[in-house]
Amino acid sequence: MKNVILNFLEIQGYKVDSVNKRNDQELIVRIRKKKSYKNKCPECGSQRISCHAKGQYRLKKHSNFQEKLIYLEVKRDRLICLKCRTVFLEELSGIKKYSRVSGNFTKQSLNYLAKNSFNEVGKVNGVGYQTLKRSLYNYVDPYELLTEKIKSLEKQTKIYLGLDGQSFRGRDMVLTITEVVNRELLTILPSEGQTDLRHFLERLDPEIRVKVKGVAMDMTNKHIGLIERYFPDALIVIDHYHVISCALMHLQKVRTTLQAARRIEIPIKKELDKNREDLTELEELKMERYFRLFPELLEAYLTKENIRTLYHRTKYDEAKEELEKLIIKLASSKEDELKELRRTLIHWKKEILNYFKCRITNAYTEGLHTKCKLIKRKSFGFKNVETYVRKLILGLLPFALLWGYTHFST
Ligand SMILES: [Zn+2]
Repeated sequence: MKNVILNFLEIQGYKVDSVNKRNDQELIVRIRKKKSYKNKCPECGSQRISCHAKGQYRLKKHSNFQEKLIYLEVKRDRLICLKCRTVFLEELSGIKKYSRVSGNFTKQSLNYLAKNSFNEVGKVNGVGYQTLKRSLYNYVDPYELLTEKIKSLEKQTKIYLGLDGQSFRGRDMVLTITEVVNRELLTILPSEGQTDLRHFLERLDPEIRVKVKGVAMDMTNKHIGLIERYFPDALIVIDHYHVISCALMHLQKVRTTLQAARRIEIPIKKELDKNREDLTELEELKMERYFRLFPELLEAYLTKENIRTLYHRTKYDEAKEELEKLIIKLASSKEDELKELRRTLIHWKKEILNYFKCRITNAYTEGLHTKCKLIKRKSFGFKNVETYVRKLILGLLPFALLWGYTHFST
């Protein structure tokens, strides 16, 4: 019977002395360490150890089962090394020193935290926010790749990464890093800054780094230098979605600037956003009215559509020719927004065209961001970005994987 309990509670290296109910909600299992479990001196490694002082029995929360708490009652002796006379606290399997919970309880709480808010887990498991937070930080490291992820990257002959920022709060961004072909989340860093990214890249094995053949990202200068340095064989590809949204943003700015300058409403925001082939006849007529009044708006719209159709090209040379033609055409534009768009296209020309050599996008990464928003909403917001990214990783990766950080081999 007692062995059944041990197995059921997943406790190894102990014997059960007794099982008692404290009240209807709590069960107390008194356990004792098996004799065969030997301690080593932390100073000299000797196994000639003797008891220095007997410990007292203490309760350690171990499991929440059907809304009942199961405690382990266990004592930890002070031991002395007979060789070097060092006195130290006994090691207990599955229960860290000074901890009031077992490793199993921490796992259970984190597993629950993966799908629930800090508040909810605290209420159900009776753990404080600080304790939960400490466990989360102990178990999730955004700067390190999980062993399982490393294994799967090592199997690939070519690796394609996606980098994409998402807003944490206002302008504070976090950076998501994915493998875009196999669609795997690698990590989420607490900022878009160079230091955080470098910290992560430094820990990537050089053998993995040289296999990275492409990196999809948005039009930001922040990461280019690091990407080039750490992934010498990678093509940097500006995600086509971001190029189109950039053109769209300038188009809408032309509209709003006109509205303000001429003091007239131009209510075709929705229509301008639409793809040309999706417009209804009525919408086309409506747009034409405004295009006659404001030719610069038509020019900006056609530019946006031109950039969209650029992506229908299948050959690199054709795409290059078309982009160059567009850049020449925009040179004669009098519209400020289009001049700025032209500068952007020139600046990122190589990376935009790399798409036609390496057809990767950040669609998967963007999809993850939708899930992140859901986690954020369920948790009633976060004050601390470091906690936020760890909670996201906990919620997005399969729970069993999280015990696979290399620093966590014990
Ligand atoms: Zn010793």
